[in-house]
Amino acid sequence: MKDDFSIKGEVITALEAVDDPAEEGKNIVDTHLVEKVEVEKGVVDVILVMQAERDRKQRFAIEDGVYDAVEAIGGVQEVKVKTMTPQALEREARGEEPASPKPAPAKAASTSAPTPGGSKGSPGPQQSGAAPSAPIEGVSKVIAVASGKGGVGKSTVAVNLALALQAQGFRVGLLDTDIYGPSLPTLLGVTGRPAVSNRRILPIEAAGLRIMSLGFLMDEDSPVIWRGPIVTGIIRQFLRDVDWSGLDYLIVDMPPGTGDAQLALAQTVPVDGAIVVTTPSDLALIDAARGLQMFKTLNVDVMGIVTNMARFIVPSTKEEFFIFGHPDQVKKEAKRMETPILGEIPLDTKVREGGDEGKPVLLADPESPVGQAFMDLATRVTELKPVGADDGDDGEKKKGLFSFLKN
Ligand code: ADP
Repeated sequence: MKDDFSIKGEVITALEAVDDPAEEGKNIVDTHLVEKVEVEKGVVDVILVMQAERDRKQRFAIEDGVYDAVEAIGGVQEVKVKTMTPQALEREARGEEPASPKPAPAKAASTSAPTPGGSKGSPGPQQSGAAPSAPIEGVSKVIAVASGKGGVGKSTVAVNLALALQAQGFRVGLLDTDIYGPSLPTLLGVTGRPAVSNRRILPIEAAGLRIMSLGFLMDEDSPVIWRGPIVTGIIRQFLRDVDWSGLDYLIVDMPPGTGDAQLALAQTVPVDGAIVVTTPSDLALIDAARGLQMFKTLNVDVMGIVTNMARFIVPSTKEEFFIFGHPDQVKKEAKRMETPILGEIPLDTKVREGGDEGKPVLLADPESPVGQAFMDLATRVTELKPVGADDGDDGEKKKGLFSFLKN
């Protein structure tokens, strides 16, 4: 096996093959974008330094180039690329905290331990009014995917929506806060433990997404007996202590129901929008309605409803069957609640098979009707919550991905 020292040498040589698009004919080593290369047990950490103003497409191209070049080296187990501004580097060198503003003590106290009663239905006025603390550093939009009850396909929607957003050119993270049954590792076929660097947890990269799930931290058969305040602590940690920097969208897969996790999310960071997933069945709809109400109470903008398993289309005859009820039922209910329908996802065995095999349908068969339904959903999400457009702003001030580097 190759030792770390020789890998490091090869990494530096490989980085000399990555062009800097800003300076023709020069590579990123020439233009001093490579700040540090560290190798430990085959895991390569590359720190790049770029001005905040640098074009985001260029940054992506460089980062992708670094991944590709380093991954190709024999003996490399994992590649981690982190891009920093010169200012952030300086702050780090001085031993200061990363730029993420810590919540003020008073707010921290209010978010760390919700009263048990707060989780059941309607939180009191100070809870709903509790202004969320600072946004997640480096994330443009936080979108929660929720459902009133389990088994309606919420996690499936979250994963495929994230992949569809990515297919449309966005940088996407996926946070599984379903601590009672984290399914993201299975749905994406990922195992492993997240690394820690600079006192921040590094999300695992899979299928081009940055992902974090309690499933990575606990064994499948560990008993899950956490209660409210602990749930809250974990979610806060996942939001605050994980390095999500550089994301256009962070999709948060919520546990089903209306409970502490939803409260913790809404109180810890500003949530840009919530999507509620339901099937057309009566029972699921009643629960969905509760979910919608809860987000409204928490002052989270409910973007709309996704009707999952809306219809089954016989591939050969194109005949439609409504196995879990007719999607028009959801439309009626949505109208009553003045909430739009964001998408209708057909029932398709490919979805379940893909989920079981760790290959979501958006990767396995993106052209299929169900794949297209997820693409359409992603388009709706980007229209409703465009990256960088500040709520309450006039929308012209596109902050883009680098907003977090400019503060
Ligand atoms: P939840 O997160 O709401 O508990 P999951 O996403 O885990 O639900 O989905 C529950 C089951 O339903 C999984 O086996 C999943 O593969 C399957 N499923 C979800 N959506 C669809 C669909 N549109 N067509 C077929 N199977 C689906």
